[in-house]
Amino acid sequence: MSDDHDHHDGNDDHELRVSKIRDGTVIDHVRGGQALNVLAILGIDGTNGEEVSVGMNVPSNRFARKDIVKVEGRELSQDEVDVLSLIAPDATINIVRDYDVVEKHRVERPDVVEGVLSCPNAGCITTGDEPVTSRFTVLEDGVRCSYCETIVREEIASLIET
Ligand SMILES: [Zn+2]
Repeated sequence: MSDDHDHHDGNDDHELRVSKIRDGTVIDHVRGGQALNVLAILGIDGTNGEEVSVGMNVPSNRFARKDIVKVEGRELSQDEVDVLSLIAPDATINIVRDYDVVEKHRVERPDVVEGVLSCPNAGCITTGDEPVTSRFTVLEDGVRCSYCETIVREEIASLIET
Protein backbone atom coordinates (compact mmCIF):
# COMPACT_ATOMS: atom_id res chain seq x y z
CA MET A 1 0.00 0.00 0.00
CA SER A 2 1.26 3.39 -0.88
CA ASP A 3 0.00 6.48 0.84
CA ASP A 4 0.86 8.52 -2.18
CA HIS A 5 -2.70 9.49 -2.97
CA ASP A 6 -2.56 10.56 -6.52
CA HIS A 7 -1.06 13.94 -5.76
CA HIS A 8 -1.05 16.26 -8.68
CA ASP A 9 1.81 18.53 -7.96
CA GLY A 10 0.28 21.78 -9.00
CA ASN A 11 2.04 22.13 -12.32
CA ASP A 12 -1.15 23.81 -13.39
CA ASP A 13 -2.96 25.23 -10.42
CA HIS A 14 -5.45 26.94 -12.62
CA GLU A 15 -6.50 23.69 -14.22
CA LEU A 16 -7.09 22.12 -10.85
CA ARG A 17 -9.05 25.05 -9.60
CA VAL A 18 -11.48 25.10 -12.48
CA SER A 19 -11.97 21.36 -12.58
CA LYS A 20 -13.39 20.91 -9.13
CA ILE A 21 -16.76 19.94 -10.45
CA ARG A 22 -17.18 16.29 -11.38
CA ASP A 23 -19.03 16.47 -14.68
CA GLY A 24 -20.21 19.59 -16.39
CA THR A 25 -18.98 22.89 -17.75
CA VAL A 26 -16.77 25.60 -16.36
CA ILE A 27 -17.08 28.93 -18.12
CA ASP A 28 -13.97 30.85 -17.29
CA HIS A 29 -12.70 34.32 -18.19
CA VAL A 30 -16.13 35.86 -18.26
CA ARG A 31 -15.84 39.62 -18.04
CA GLY A 32 -16.29 40.88 -14.51
CA GLY A 33 -19.95 41.41 -13.68
CA GLN A 34 -21.37 39.29 -16.52
CA ALA A 35 -21.81 36.00 -14.66
CA LEU A 36 -25.50 36.52 -14.00
CA ASN A 37 -26.08 37.28 -17.67
CA VAL A 38 -24.30 34.05 -18.51
CA LEU A 39 -26.73 32.20 -16.28
CA ALA A 40 -29.64 34.02 -17.94
CA ILE A 41 -28.40 32.91 -21.36
CA LEU A 42 -28.20 29.34 -20.19
CA GLY A 43 -31.71 29.60 -18.77
CA ILE A 44 -30.46 28.82 -15.30
CA ASP A 45 -32.37 30.48 -12.49
CA GLY A 46 -31.99 27.80 -9.87
CA THR A 47 -35.59 26.63 -9.99
CA ASN A 48 -34.70 23.33 -11.64
CA GLY A 49 -32.24 22.38 -8.94
CA GLU A 50 -29.16 22.88 -11.08
CA GLU A 51 -25.92 22.79 -9.14
CA VAL A 52 -24.14 26.00 -10.06
CA SER A 53 -21.28 27.93 -8.56
CA VAL A 54 -20.50 31.47 -9.53
CA GLY A 55 -17.37 33.44 -8.77
CA MET A 56 -17.63 37.13 -9.38
CA ASN A 57 -14.83 39.63 -9.70
CA VAL A 58 -12.16 37.04 -9.08
CA PRO A 59 -8.58 38.30 -9.59
CA SER A 60 -7.29 37.22 -12.99
CA ASN A 61 -4.06 37.33 -14.91
CA ARG A 62 -5.71 38.12 -18.18
CA PHE A 63 -8.13 40.75 -16.87
CA ALA A 64 -8.16 42.82 -13.75
CA ARG A 65 -11.21 40.86 -12.63
CA LYS A 66 -13.18 38.03 -14.09
CA ASP A 67 -16.24 35.98 -13.37
CA ILE A 68 -16.36 32.22 -13.47
CA VAL A 69 -19.41 29.99 -13.72
CA LYS A 70 -19.45 26.26 -13.01
CA VAL A 71 -22.44 24.18 -13.98
CA GLU A 72 -22.56 20.64 -12.69
CA GLY A 73 -24.07 17.93 -14.87
CA ARG A 74 -24.42 19.92 -18.05
CA GLU A 75 -22.24 20.25 -21.13
CA LEU A 76 -22.97 23.33 -23.16
CA SER A 77 -24.15 22.97 -26.74
CA GLN A 78 -22.53 24.89 -29.58
CA ASP A 79 -25.64 27.10 -29.80
CA GLU A 80 -25.30 28.05 -26.18
CA VAL A 81 -21.62 28.78 -26.59
CA ASP A 82 -22.37 30.94 -29.64
CA VAL A 83 -24.76 33.10 -27.68
CA LEU A 84 -22.40 33.31 -24.73
CA SER A 85 -19.86 34.83 -27.06
CA LEU A 86 -22.08 37.90 -27.41
CA ILE A 87 -21.61 38.89 -23.80
CA ALA A 88 -18.45 36.97 -22.92
CA PRO A 89 -16.25 37.14 -26.02
CA ASP A 90 -13.13 36.16 -24.11
CA ALA A 91 -14.61 33.23 -22.25
CA THR A 92 -13.01 29.83 -22.10
CA ILE A 93 -15.34 26.84 -22.02
CA ASN A 94 -14.00 23.84 -20.10
CA ILE A 95 -15.90 20.57 -20.40
CA VAL A 96 -15.25 18.46 -17.31
CA ARG A 97 -15.76 14.73 -16.98
CA ASP A 98 -14.82 12.83 -13.89
CA TYR A 99 -12.97 15.87 -12.50
CA ASP A 100 -10.78 16.26 -15.58
CA VAL A 101 -10.96 18.98 -18.19
CA VAL A 102 -11.51 16.91 -21.34
CA GLU A 103 -12.21 19.74 -23.75
CA LYS A 104 -11.34 23.39 -23.71
CA HIS A 105 -12.66 25.89 -26.21
CA ARG A 106 -12.45 29.58 -26.73
CA VAL A 107 -15.77 31.00 -27.76
CA GLU A 108 -16.19 32.29 -31.29
CA ARG A 109 -18.67 34.88 -32.31
CA PRO A 110 -21.20 33.46 -34.76
CA ASP A 111 -22.30 35.45 -37.83
CA VAL A 112 -25.96 35.03 -36.98
CA VAL A 113 -28.03 33.99 -33.96
CA GLU A 114 -31.52 32.66 -34.52
CA GLY A 115 -34.35 32.17 -32.06
CA VAL A 116 -32.28 33.39 -29.14
CA LEU A 117 -32.80 37.13 -28.79
CA SER A 118 -36.06 38.99 -29.07
CA CYS A 119 -36.16 42.21 -31.08
CA PRO A 120 -36.69 45.35 -28.96
CA ASN A 121 -38.73 46.93 -31.77
CA ALA A 122 -42.42 46.42 -30.93
CA GLY A 123 -43.29 46.87 -34.60
CA CYS A 124 -40.92 44.15 -35.78
CA ILE A 125 -42.45 41.14 -37.52
CA THR A 126 -40.68 38.86 -35.05
CA THR A 127 -42.43 40.40 -32.05
CA GLY A 128 -45.97 40.28 -33.45
CA ASP A 129 -48.48 37.46 -33.20
CA GLU A 130 -47.03 35.74 -36.25
CA PRO A 131 -44.55 33.09 -35.16
CA VAL A 132 -41.50 34.39 -36.99
CA THR A 133 -38.24 33.19 -35.50
CA SER A 134 -35.99 36.05 -34.53
CA ARG A 135 -32.75 36.42 -36.40
CA PHE A 136 -29.88 38.75 -35.63
CA THR A 137 -26.68 39.42 -37.48
CA VAL A 138 -23.72 39.67 -35.12
CA LEU A 139 -21.78 42.89 -35.61
CA GLU A 140 -18.41 43.87 -34.25
CA ASP A 141 -20.04 45.79 -31.42
CA GLY A 142 -23.60 44.52 -31.19
CA VAL A 143 -26.36 42.71 -33.06
CA ARG A 144 -28.73 43.76 -35.85
CA CYS A 145 -32.23 42.40 -36.40
CA SER A 146 -32.38 40.79 -39.84
CA TYR A 147 -36.00 41.88 -40.30
CA CYS A 148 -36.26 45.46 -39.13
CA GLU A 149 -32.55 46.37 -39.01
CA THR A 150 -32.74 47.53 -35.40
CA ILE A 151 -29.24 47.55 -33.94
CA VAL A 152 -28.61 46.74 -30.30
CA ARG A 153 -25.23 47.47 -28.79
CA GLU A 154 -25.89 47.38 -25.08
CA GLU A 155 -27.81 45.19 -22.71
CA ILE A 156 -27.90 42.37 -25.22
CA ALA A 157 -28.51 39.91 -22.41
CA SER A 158 -31.82 41.62 -21.66
CA LEU A 159 -33.07 40.54 -25.12
CA ILE A 160 -32.60 36.86 -24.44
CA GLU A 161 -35.82 35.00 -25.08
CA THR A 162 -37.02 33.07 -22.09
ZN1 LIG B 1 -36.61 43.44 -35.48
